[in-house]
Amino acid sequence: MVKAAIVTGASRGIGAACAVELAKNGYAVAVNYRVNRKAAEAVSEMIISQGGQAFPICADVSKPEEVLKMFEASKERFGSVSLLVNNAGISHIGLLQDMTDVEIRRQLEVNLMGAIVCSREAAKQMVPKKCGSIINIASMWGEVGASCEAVYSACKAGIIGFTKALAKELGPSGIRVNCVSPGVIRTDMNAELTEETLRELEDETPLLRIGSAEDVARAVAFLAREESSFITGQVLPVNGGITV
Ligand code: NAP
Repeated sequence: MVKAAIVTGASRGIGAACAVELAKNGYAVAVNYRVNRKAAEAVSEMIISQGGQAFPICADVSKPEEVLKMFEASKERFGSVSLLVNNAGISHIGLLQDMTDVEIRRQLEVNLMGAIVCSREAAKQMVPKKCGSIINIASMWGEVGASCEAVYSACKAGIIGFTKALAKELGPSGIRVNCVSPGVIRTDMNAELTEETLRELEDETPLLRIGSAEDVARAVAFLAREESSFITGQVLPVNGGITV
């Protein structure tokens, strides 16, 4: 029987790598995006060309009505969802006192509320089946806090607390909830960092390199697999050995 996965923010970066890796692990994947349809189509086509199943699905995770439609569309296509990866996210770099209400709210609505609403819709499909897995993409900054990313850090700390609480709530229904906490990963999100800054970050990392989206995707796939079936409520750092 097909195992259905929804990966939010899967048109690029970590989400795209997760979609491809999960398809290799036998999941039929709903490749969510917000605006970048062509990129989401390319990810889906790559999965299909490798013998997997996938389709692109537009939804802004900060809009509950769009999230509902995404879960309905995925169920219609692949059946009840078995795996949700809450990956969609946006960063904002700047001093807190310079942030507008709109910018603060957008951070909270995409990075935190989005994952919460998607998890609620996933739980509705998973609880009756008494199985499933939710994997949230947190961040090292949610563990230690980042200067000039205070609201982003708060969202990711919230994701970690949400993961631990929901794992307790859904555990008796046979559903696992974990999060992966990446360090610095080379994606569009870090496109503004200069090569010099990236080199400094590499020097500060025990493994002396920046992570790749695939590094994160392999950790997500591990948490999705049966071999991790006694692991729930955990934070798995994928950060090259930085002490948090
Ligand atoms: P990215 O390359 O900027 O990609 C972001 C993805 O999220 C895109 O697919 C984008 O879709 C989607 N997205 C953005 N807003 C959305 C919304 N409102 N609804 C649905 N999809 C939305 O980012 P990334 O670096 O891969 O980051 C992925 C996750 O990892 C984020 O949660 C981020 O906070 C976390 N993370 C990243 C790093 C890092 O160093 N890169 C480190 C720690 C944690 P479109 O293409 O349609 O815009």
